[in-house]
Amino acid sequence: MKFQALLEEIYNEVQPLFGQGQVADYIPALGKVDPRKFGISIQTVNGQSFETGDANEKFSIQSISKVFNLAMAIRIVDEQLWERVGVEPSGNPFNSLVQLEHERGIPRNPFINSGAQVVIDILLEHLDNPNEEMLSFVKKLRYEDVYYNDAVFQSEKEYGYTNQALVNFMKAHKNIMHPVDTVLDVYYHQCSIEMSCHGLAKSFLFLANNGIIPDTGERILTKSQTKRVNALMLTCGFYDQAGMFAYHVGLPGKSGVGGGIVAVIPEELSIAVWSPELNTYGNSVIGMKVLELLTTRTGKSVF
Ligand code: GLU
Repeated sequence: MKFQALLEEIYNEVQPLFGQGQVADYIPALGKVDPRKFGISIQTVNGQSFETGDANEKFSIQSISKVFNLAMAIRIVDEQLWERVGVEPSGNPFNSLVQLEHERGIPRNPFINSGAQVVIDILLEHLDNPNEEMLSFVKKLRYEDVYYNDAVFQSEKEYGYTNQALVNFMKAHKNIMHPVDTVLDVYYHQCSIEMSCHGLAKSFLFLANNGIIPDTGERILTKSQTKRVNALMLTCGFYDQAGMFAYHVGLPGKSGVGGGIVAVIPEELSIAVWSPELNTYGNSVIGMKVLELLTTRTGKSVF
């Protein structure tokens, strides 16, 4: 498969879609991003790399960090996690309070905000410094150049009214054990992580390789745990547009409101796309299209 030629072809083909979405502006630090940024990186499990555009420029990975968060917690508590968070698609906005109220403080899945916040609460039981551990975890996944963006962190904190409401509500339902501010500090840090498409594709490769980092042979998750994380990405990775992503793309993946999307083709590769203009669900307009074209042209998906 001539991935480089295909990437260039798709890169050019989606150019007319610029201007169709909106850069996230719920916090000032994200609203300043150049809407024309666009990068793609493919990393294969056998060590090949195909990239185009701004593939090495860092951006705010936002909710993509919820996958690292989940993988870290599964490594520590495995199936016990599911006593406090569900595995069903939400079909609601990622910060919905209504659903949480209806379901008595048990979040639908670990990729909506409330779900990630419960996962953080669990990590806090086991780790002295989850913020440092998160960076070390990504570095272990063979990407060194990862850090928190303080301006984004401060902005998330300043405008975090809904997130405060979510964590407080879950605490009222006894599904948060630590102080609300402690959980939120870790949550806002995770949202503020900056990485490039190259870094994201590289660090997601273990999910395309049955849980093993291809470069080092180190096992991060068991084969069965990897299947579960990929299943959750397929069914819950795109806010309330997860069905649409599965329908058009057919891969496990995760998006973030920074405009990044990462997806994996099991046993083969991981791909990250970044284009900050979002559709009304919070997913990158161009990122979704790139992945749709990629799976359609290659005939590869999980189905
Ligand atoms: N930082 C965002 C928030 O908590 C979530 C980011 C995302 O969904 O990518 O509101």
